[in-house]
Amino acid sequence: MRYNCLECQTYIDYEVYNYSVNNLGVPLCRNHQNWIRSLPQSTTDDAIALYFALKIRGVPAELEKFDGFKHIDIAIPEVRVNLEIDGGHHVFNSHQALADLKRTFHSFRRGFLTLRIPNALVREHLDEAADYIVGFLMENQSRQRSFNGYYRRRY
Ligand SMILES: [Zn+2]
Repeated sequence: MRYNCLECQTYIDYEVYNYSVNNLGVPLCRNHQNWIRSLPQSTTDDAIALYFALKIRGVPAELEKFDGFKHIDIAIPEVRVNLEIDGGHHVFNSHQALADLKRTFHSFRRGFLTLRIPNALVREHLDEAADYIVGFLMENQSRQRSFNGYYRRRY
């Protein structure tokens, strides 16, 4: 039996696989184990868990992507969708909620859909949430294709 790093697809031996799955929850090569450990404190375990749930589903996601203004928790640039994993203060703090809404709006004006995912959803219903997010990504991709087709025909 051979194993692959979930991040780079490099073959890893059983010992590395076993260590990584037991300590990080997913199979990663030594380089990517170090990468996960070197992420800034602002990268939450919830964001990492959702990121890998999407990777397992074949989504070309990017963790901690810098958009020129701020870091996005998880970005899927190919389909112009951003995911922000929100803790309680995003819901209970009205100033934070308004700042989030403004940011969502400005991203949307630049063509990016932002899905705000409560961290409880990641913790309690990770697989189901990931499946629905994949549904959003596929839907957004087909919408963009038909929009682009329409645009080209018309102008
Ligand atoms: Zn790797």
